[in-house]
Amino acid sequence: MSKHTRGPWSLADRGDYNDFEAESRVVFGTGKRLAVVHHHGDKEAEANANLIAAAPDLLDATKVLLSDHLDQHGERVCDCQPEPQNVGHLCSACRARAAIAKAEGRDL
Ligand SMILES: [Zn+2]
Repeated sequence: MSKHTRGPWSLADRGDYNDFEAESRVVFGTGKRLAVVHHHGDKEAEANANLIAAAPDLLDATKVLLSDHLDQHGERVCDCQPEPQNVGHLCSACRARAAIAKAEGRDL
């Protein structure tokens, strides 16, 4: 079982918190602040805030997809070398495992 704050996480509206700049986005879950993305209205920072808020959903979806994949195809032996620098060259199942491990703070 994951130890992170249970999802869903969401973004507060801009300006909801007076202790941060007006354009900053506060990510919260289960009624508490989890992260603050500081920015001045730039699109990259807004995309980063959206990605952070989606993290629990992405983790859950990745676990479901990996489980469904293994149910359908079984555990296949692959030639992947699961090292952090090789993640872009792994098969889809190994990439999913790597992403889940990263999200859970584990080594590959
Ligand atoms: Zn693989």
